[in-house]
Amino acid sequence: MEEYFEGRGTALAKDGLKALSNTLAGIYYIPFKTGIALQFSFSGQSIPNRIDVKNDKGVKIYFDAVETAARVELGKGLIRKTFLDPEAVLEKYNPDAAEQLVWHVAAHEVGHAIYNLLTVEEALKEEGGAEIITLLEEPRAELTAMFTLRLLHEKNVLDLPHLKEALAHFALDALRYFAKYNSEPLRPYIIFQTYAFNMYASKGYIAEDASGKLVLDDSKTMDVLDAFSERFLAILECEDKADGKTLTRFLGEMQDETDLIRRVVAAVNA
Ligand SMILES: [Zn+2]
Repeated sequence: MEEYFEGRGTALAKDGLKALSNTLAGIYYIPFKTGIALQFSFSGQSIPNRIDVKNDKGVKIYFDAVETAARVELGKGLIRKTFLDPEAVLEKYNPDAAEQLVWHVAAHEVGHAIYNLLTVEEALKEEGGAEIITLLEEPRAELTAMFTLRLLHEKNVLDLPHLKEALAHFALDALRYFAKYNSEPLRPYIIFQTYAFNMYASKGYIAEDASGKLVLDDSKTMDVLDAFSERFLAILECEDKADGKTLTRFLGEMQDETDLIRRVVAAVNA
């Protein structure tokens, strides 16, 4: 990531690089919880929130492996509800908390430290500023994770089988969000998954069989990662140019509630 953003050479990349090089992450196994932690759990949390402190000191990321494992179990139930041959899918990809934290959630959290939409808050004020930042920053962070997966493959950190597994974990995890489709706090994540599922279908990565059950074709992995990367880079370019108009258009496109989305939402909630 550092190499990529160094090569980009823009002001926003330069600011973010300092944060990126100071960033640390750890996976924690916590045996029990008390108090408010029982009411509100997260699988990953990065501090600090203030953008100026973040740029200066980087982010420290805490991952709760136990909470993440609970979410993975929830996801398995939804795979069983929606996939044509769920046991084969579970056996082939074997969703795993630590794998997902390392290859997906870590890059997502690091994604907030570089090119965070808050850094262009002032410039976007005229054109949809607040809404873009609230609704598009989480999708942008998810795209950072997908872009990073492709970088890791290019640098031979993840070979093709491992890359296919990491993307499948990510795509399958989307079902949890469709199960909470009307959640207001989860809206930014749901926007991302709506966009992602429509794109998966357009690339043939995810399809419905005659009975309406889902099938996943991981031979389309690179097509999907290319599409994610293209959208990610387009958003960064808008930030470099403070182009709120195009960001607003992206945000509109990304929440297109197609028939496919309605069917998946209905299936996970059946
Ligand atoms: Zn996030």
